[in-house]
Amino acid sequence: MTFIQKLVTTLLPDKWVADIQAESQRWLLRCPTCGTARSVWEMGGIRYKARSKGRVVYAMCTTCGQRQNMSLEWQPDE
Ligand SMILES: [Zn+2]
Repeated sequence: MTFIQKLVTTLLPDKWVADIQAESQRWLLRCPTCGTARSVWEMGGIRYKARSKGRVVYAMCTTCGQRQNMSLEWQPDE
């Protein structure tokens, strides 16, 4: 876990942490180079009560190693 994730999981009640983690795992960052999608949580971030569809985040792809802007996608219920 990253510093911010540790901070959140230490300070907040377990129920909130579960919510935040679940929500962060449904926000996906897709690499435009290789198409790999990883959740915000996996990338070391958190995203909660945020409605930022279409936003672009600068991040590094762990598959192809490219640092670039990736679009943030919400993964709806299956
Ligand atoms: Zn990639």
